Amino acid sequence: MTPATLTGISASPGIVVGPVHLLRWVVPEVPQRVIDESAVPRELERLRHAFERAVERLHSVRERAERNAGPAEAAIFDVQVSIIEDADLRRRVEDVIRQNFSAERAFDVVMLEWRERFARSTHAMMLERVGDLMDVHIRVLSILLDLPDYDPVDLPKGSNAILVTHDLTPSLTLQLDRECIIGIATDAGTRTSHVAILARSLGLPAVVGLLDATSRLTSGEKVILDATAGVLVVRPTPAELKDAAARVRLERREGEALERLAGEEAITADGVRVTLRANVDLPDEAAGAARSGAEGVGLMRTEFLVVGRTTMPDEEEQYQAYTNVIKAFGGQPVVIRTFDVGGDKLPVGGFPHEPNPFLGWRAIRMCLDEPEIFRTQLRALLRAAVHGDVRIMLPLIVTLDEVREARAMLAESARELAARGVAYRADVPLGIMIETPAAVVTADALAKDVAFFSIGTNDLVQYTLAVDRGNARLATRFTPLHPAVLRLIHRTLQVGDEHGLEVSVCGEMASEPLMAFALIGLGLRTLSVAPRSVSRVKQIVRGIHASVAAQAALAALDAGTAPAAEAILRARLTAELEPVAEAVRRDRSRAT
Ligand code: PEP
Ligand code: MG
Repeated sequence: MTPATLTGISASPGIVVGPVHLLRWVVPEVPQRVIDESAVPRELERLRHAFERAVERLHSVRERAERNAGPAEAAIFDVQVSIIEDADLRRRVEDVIRQNFSAERAFDVVMLEWRERFARSTHAMMLERVGDLMDVHIRVLSILLDLPDYDPVDLPKGSNAILVTHDLTPSLTLQLDRECIIGIATDAGTRTSHVAILARSLGLPAVVGLLDATSRLTSGEKVILDATAGVLVVRPTPAELKDAAARVRLERREGEALERLAGEEAITADGVRVTLRANVDLPDEAAGAARSGAEGVGLMRTEFLVVGRTTMPDEEEQYQAYTNVIKAFGGQPVVIRTFDVGGDKLPVGGFPHEPNPFLGWRAIRMCLDEPEIFRTQLRALLRAAVHGDVRIMLPLIVTLDEVREARAMLAESARELAARGVAYRADVPLGIMIETPAAVVTADALAKDVAFFSIGTNDLVQYTLAVDRGNARLATRFTPLHPAVLRLIHRTLQVGDEHGLEVSVCGEMASEPLMAFALIGLGLRTLSVAPRSVSRVKQIVRGIHASVAAQAALAALDAGTAPAAEAILRARLTAELEPVAEAVRRDRSRAT
């Protein structure tokens, strides 16, 4: 019997109630089935029919995707139609059927062969097709095996469904129709996996790391997704539904109270000013982010212009996207990070599959190896920079050479623009993400070549503790308060101070109250968080004394273990926030 409550990790807060939409986007198991000679014509006919149905489905999915996400995204489905209509593929599957294999078995064997061949290719075009082959593989097999034909974008408007799936890729997340899906629950993932980050950007409540929710739930059954608490309540009782409705009302009131903080200053009780900026993942969010009270953008993740598509955006499209964000923030600083593609952020079908993607061809490594892609982005950034206070940031820096090479390419891009006679800004500050232990340890060497540091704690924790940020089984081991991490952050601040460089934090750590307290205690004065977290962090800033945070952080640095550091910080923060907590308690009792 399924327990009534499944516990996972809160990835994006909020409470919603609705029917489950179960998405199983994995290649189904195919039973071994050898057929008689006499059955061959029937199997050939089944194959023809399955191909026809798959193409019909792709046409309707394409129409829907075009309405929801635009023509560029919808083009993915044309590629998939052309795979199914490929004469070679059909001939090869038919040959295998004539060797007495069932249609599904023959199709499975040929698709495995093709996927393997494409994945081993050194041609970018062929590598880009691997993901499409996989989608075709799943879709046609589901038809041949008579399995439900699930599709993430194929739900009627107003379904108000909760998407339950094993692991949602960023590209699938971008295809979600928010008029159909009101929440996300996944078996895999953690708070810092990019699906969680995107769900927060989209404002969709999400619980990740549920481990086996997909095998415990069926489509259509009603559940409560309490993403604030990180749980999914199965077969809720009337009392649980009533309680959920009360919590929804309470969260709305708390949200309204936080919104009122947007116009207030982020200043501690002892008068220390903290700058709160917003992380912008999708250019469309910029206007909302500006309304959150954020004082600029601390991190724009430009790779989300690429993820979910089959082609790279050209210079003009990028220029427009960056300009929109810059203009939304008036003259405030806007830190735009160059493409951090790779790891768990991949374009649809693109990129080689790697055994260790987080240790692989990612971020600055890809950009330096693909100068055409990188220079196109740098030109777009230099052009957009005429509209405001833009700063360019390089991700995943490990060596000084990477910075120097990138700087040389920036200069080259400026020369290209000058030759074209296009307006651009020549003196854009170039800073780096500090998100590898190597960058911290050599920060003094890097400092001489860069204008600022921004600490990416998601990756810094991952690489320091050797804990995959997306692995739900390791979620409890992903501890940003581990003294090793705190010491690396502390060291980065010291180097920043010595060289007069601004040091900020733009990882998820900054948006969690206890950790924001620790960061302010360590000396950080600039934090960048998801737009929806700006007010919550501001509430913490306004409720604490920087001097108390500093004492607590000093003790945490020497704590020896993450739980010990956490206990020290929690005790101090709780004492600091007692007056705020009391006000919240009063508010809660009025609401229920
Ligand atoms: C980080 O690593 O903390 C960061 C901000 O970058 P991303 O989450 O996009 O890797
Ligand atoms: Mg990172």
